[in-house]
Formats: sequence, structure tokens, C-alpha cells
Amino acid sequence: MDTIGVGLIGTGYMGKCHALAWNAVLPVFGDCPRPRLVGLAEVDADLARSRAHQFGFERSTADWRSLITDREIEVVSITTPNAFHAEMAVAALEAGKHVWCEKPMAVGFADATRMADAARKSGKVAILGYNYIQNPLIRQIGHMIDEREIGEINHVRIEMDEDFMADPDALFYWKSEASSGYGALDDFAVHPLSILQVLFGTPTRVFAHMSRPYDDRPTQDGGRRRVETFDIANVLFELGGISGVLAVNRSAWGRKGRIAIQIFGSTGSIVYDQERMNELQIYKAGQGAQSGYTTILAGPGHFPYDRFIPAPGHGLGFNDLKAIECRELLSAIEGREGRVVDFDAGLEIERCVHATAQSHAEQRWIDL
Ligand code: NAD
Repeated sequence: MDTIGVGLIGTGYMGKCHALAWNAVLPVFGDCPRPRLVGLAEVDADLARSRAHQFGFERSTADWRSLITDREIEVVSITTPNAFHAEMAVAALEAGKHVWCEKPMAVGFADATRMADAARKSGKVAILGYNYIQNPLIRQIGHMIDEREIGEINHVRIEMDEDFMADPDALFYWKSEASSGYGALDDFAVHPLSILQVLFGTPTRVFAHMSRPYDDRPTQDGGRRRVETFDIANVLFELGGISGVLAVNRSAWGRKGRIAIQIFGSTGSIVYDQERMNELQIYKAGQGAQSGYTTILAGPGHFPYDRFIPAPGHGLGFNDLKAIECRELLSAIEGREGRVVDFDAGLEIERCVHATAQSHAEQRWIDL
């Protein structure tokens, strides 16, 4: 496979991120098909045209359905708001395209199931945008756990916090609408759940409480609208022999891109924070009273850091994780093993999200 025809739906924050990844993947990795950026779709024809020019796509359209039936397109990036994912992904799979869909998978569990069914039926590769698992240091944490560097894992705490909705005067937008899902649970918690999934698996029991820091928000036209989602979610979980805590908040003043992980084992602990994504810390027991964490800086020894930069300590960035995700997608399309969250694995994350929401509603433990 020398080239692969690419389509992109949506050109906002994530649309640009996918476009950067499609442009970067061959120069960075060198050993994958050359993405041919065939076409993109936006809601407005003028916007679509200008984004196609900026992102390097050959054509543009205001009709996403015409994009997915384009014969020259073989893989479709879906980066539209959550409510569109199911309809677009199923249509693309039915049209015989591979799919790279942003998280969360879908708003309702029935839609997520429909997506997984469509992927299985199509025989095409369908993956979700769980980019944080692509950090070379998350791989490194996985190796350390496998090598039992901190012994038997007994406790995991994982948090995701940002402050883009912390201001009570921040405008109401689609993330405050119930059509986007429960709120921080499916906007944020799915990311920590994807990391838990690659490191340990999916929680087997959950107990949750969600809250809404502000009841309403200003609207663009000067009015106010009731907030329909929960910006904060706290979850207790069990996963094999691990007792866990998952806490997420999109109104956490001061937190910009935090995904803080603490993993405690019988002989040590590992800590990591996405805000300092090029370092992790490990503590090993038995060092005496004058001991502390050792910091490990990301470097060429942590695959695939070396594909970007030959020198240690210089650091990868958020958009690089998407380029790695793109490489893994292409590997899967070429029939090799890819480090991806496919639609079946994504469905397990969705199952956990909905069980968690059910736990909040019924205030009891839910078994998955
Ligand atoms: P955004 O609002 O910045 O961009 C969405 C774009 O989709 C807009 O340009 C909008 O015009 C376009 N769009 C909407 N309906 C469309 C349609 N019918 N046809 C074509 N284009 C359409 O939103 P965003 O922040 O990029 O979020 C998009 C998705 O990405 C969400 O599902 C979100 O959860 C996910 N996301 C993932 C990450 C990550 O780290 N993986 C980060 C942020 C957002």
C-alpha cells in the first residue's frame, strides 16, 4: 500500500489536530503509506474551502455524506461534536471506509453498540481518538508494571482536570447540552479509562457521584440557559485486585491539561501527570529514610520518541500523540498490530461510562 486517501469531517480543535497528524505521519515514521489528503467537510462551504487550503486537502464540501461516498477516500477522520459520531461513523463504515473517530464514541450506549456492530460487519479498521495512551511514557509505565518494578499493584488514583469551564460566566455551548452526553464523565473520564484499559483493563465495579458547579450559563444572545451536563464526576472503582479512584473536573481553576496518575504497588509507586508529559517518577521501597522519587525524562529509549527527535529531554507535545495514533491506525489498516482503542475496546469504555452514570442516578455500586 503506497498511498491512502484521507477524508476529514470537522475542522475545529480536533480537526486541525488530525490534519497535522495526517501531514506529519510519513515524515516522522517514514515507513507507512503516504496519506493523500483528498477532501474535508465542514458545515459551511466557505469555511470548508479555506480549511482545505490551510490543511492541505484537495477538495472541500459542506455535505459530509458526499465525502464518505467519495471513491478516492479510504479512511475518514471524524472530529465533529459527540452527537454526530454514531451517524457519521456507521455511514462511513457502511460505505467501506476505515474510520478514525474522536472520543467519546457516542452519546448513548445503543449508538456505541451500533458503531461496534458496523465496524465488525464491515471488516474495516475503526478506532477512537484516545491519544493519551500513545505517550511513550505511558508505554513505559506499562513496561514497568509488566516487569513488576513496583510489585503487585493494589491502588490506582487517576484524575483529569481542566479549567475551560471554571468561569461561571463562560458561555453556554454544546458541551453543556445533554445531547453531548453526561458531561465530564464522557468528555474527560473516557481518557483516564483508556489509560486504565491499556495498563490494567476495564473496571469491574463502579460507584459514582457527579455534580454541576453552576446551574446556568450566559448565552451568546445575552440570555441565560440551564446547564444540562455535570462538569464534575467522582468514581470509586474496582479492577481485578486494584482499588481505584477516578476524579474528573472541567471547572477546575488552574488545571490546564492534567491527567494525574498514581499507581501504588507492593514494592513502590509510579506517578505521572500529562501537564508534565515528558517525565514520570518512580519510587522503589527499601531505600531507607533519605529516599524519594526518581524522575525519568522522555528520550529516544522510549519508543517512538526517537522517530521525532534523536536527543533526550527535548520533549514531545500533544499533537505528536495524534501523529503516533495515526501511525498506529495505519499499522492496523496494513494488517499489523496497532496500539489502538478499536470500537470493541471503546464499547467497554462506554459500558463503564453508562454504568457510572447509572451508579450516580441510583446511588449504589454497579457491576459491569
Ligand atoms: P470544535 O467545536 O472545535 O470542532 C467541531 C467542528 O465540527 C466544527 O468546526 C464544526 O463546524 C464541525 N461540524 C459540526 N457539525 C458538522 C457537520 N455536520 N459536518 C461537518 N462539520 C461539522 O470541537 P472539538 O473540540 O474539535 O471537538 C470535536 C470532537 O473531538 C468531540 O467529540 C470531542 O470530544 C473530541 N475531542 C477530543 C480530544 C482528544 O484529546 N482526543 C480533545 C478535544 C476534543
